[in-house]
Amino acid sequence: MRIALKSPLEIEAMRRAGRVVRQTLDRCRGLARPGVTTAQLDQLAWETFTAAGAVGLFKNYPTYEEGQGFPGHTCISVNDEVVHGIPGPRVLCAGDVVSIDCGVRFDGWCGDSAITVALEPAPPELRELIRVTEETLRLAIRLIRPHLRWSDVAGPMQQYVEQHGFSCVREFVGHGIGRRMHEDPKVPNFVSPEFLNRDDFYLREGMTLAIEPMVIRGRPEVAVSADGWTVVTRDHSCAAHVEHTVAVTRRGCEILTNGN
Ligand code: MG
Ligand code: MG
Repeated sequence: MRIALKSPLEIEAMRRAGRVVRQTLDRCRGLARPGVTTAQLDQLAWETFTAAGAVGLFKNYPTYEEGQGFPGHTCISVNDEVVHGIPGPRVLCAGDVVSIDCGVRFDGWCGDSAITVALEPAPPELRELIRVTEETLRLAIRLIRPHLRWSDVAGPMQQYVEQHGFSCVREFVGHGIGRRMHEDPKVPNFVSPEFLNRDDFYLREGMTLAIEPMVIRGRPEVAVSADGWTVVTRDHSCAAHVEHTVAVTRRGCEILTNGN
């Protein structure tokens, strides 16, 4: 495993990519309401980051050859869809839990972030699912500092989710990010024996990571649906997913996708 450390100038360039992602997700959040289709959200995202001069990282992923790979500009995952949902004609309804994931490259550097919104009126248990997922990400961001191992952060993230009676997705994890969307290391939201034995790493100043808790109301098992992309919960309970790209600093970390 080789983890590339970024210079302050490189981190500043990633922050510019992060600003475009933030602007895109903010506009999508503003449009997300009952009666809107996921394709409309996807179109708005594409228009927003394209107007800003950025290129989307999801369309045609992973080969980026025209007509191949992922069909959307964003991933939009509704209710029992966890991640990698394909935007399309689905009309959103009140009570839906909608996660929108957006990644762009701007001036050669990547940003990746996701939000989950409940379309009101939504039942309190779904708002609680989203609150816990967001708080899990905030917890990680508060804990990160050099010389800790990632498992020192992932353990408390998992504990926080499970304390609330929810489950962490095991099959998908966060990742290093930089000139490419997916770099080393793997950044899970839980601790497994395999991770402790093989993939755990020490946090160092200059690491740039995409941290993305995926939390399920019910059991942790997921499956990929027939479209080949959309990850759904096996028990059809709702899931939430939030993500920030962060840079490890001397004393902690800073968020690169919060619009600052
Ligand atoms: Mg993402
Ligand atoms: Mg990501």
